[in-house]
Amino acid sequence: MLSTKVKESLGPIFPIANKIRLLFLKIKYAGNNVVCSCCKSSFKEFAPFGDNRRKNAWCPQCESLERHRLLWMYFENKTSLYTEPLKVLHVAPETVFFHKLKNQTNIDYFPVDIYPHLYPKGTTYLDILDHEIPDNSFDVIICNHVFQYIEDDKKAIKNIYKLMKPGGWGIMQVPINTSRKTTYEDSSITDPLEREKAFGLKEHVRYYSYDYADKLRNAGFNVNVDDYSADFSNEEIHKYGFWKGDSIYYCTK
Ligand SMILES: [Zn+2]
Repeated sequence: MLSTKVKESLGPIFPIANKIRLLFLKIKYAGNNVVCSCCKSSFKEFAPFGDNRRKNAWCPQCESLERHRLLWMYFENKTSLYTEPLKVLHVAPETVFFHKLKNQTNIDYFPVDIYPHLYPKGTTYLDILDHEIPDNSFDVIICNHVFQYIEDDKKAIKNIYKLMKPGGWGIMQVPINTSRKTTYEDSSITDPLEREKAFGLKEHVRYYSYDYADKLRNAGFNVNVDDYSADFSNEEIHKYGFWKGDSIYYCTK
């Protein structure tokens, strides 16, 4: 849960520089070709993002990326997140979701992380590997892009399962390496540069693949890997700035 997240959300660390950058990008990308599902703003296109400057990726208004916009629409169209009374645990809370969920009157919201200072104000400390929260406490758990940082991911996933109420649901996204059939991990690789080469980022300890859903199932979850981006045409994929082939890992207990 971290330094990558810092790169994605410069706001908490360099607030003024970030505001100027956003203002510049809003002017540069002004237009009506694409629409952000999170903040409903329109642009000529989304700004490029990442080391390879991938195109049509980053919203200059709310700082959402492709995966945030797809998940936001999934929440709206396929879940009760914005309507039913729910107690929600949000691990490593993405800024764009944090502000939405915090202000939802139907939600009792618990944003947490082991490094809360890296997240929006109001995030509290929680180590999902070692805590005292009773089992069966939450209706919904959102835990995105977390397990790839944790060496004992089996324990982390099991603990998330325990925290969920029976009948609850959750979203647990991780980066999936589609060039492999199974998850790749090697605990002897500890050098940050070697980890980057092996697992995609310096802080990652593995690269998940298609067997990730089985890891969730082994902890007890029922898992629906929803190829939600396939519900949209190529024109819509571009218009909303989604990532074609992005699947949602929807877990229930
Ligand atoms: Zn936006």
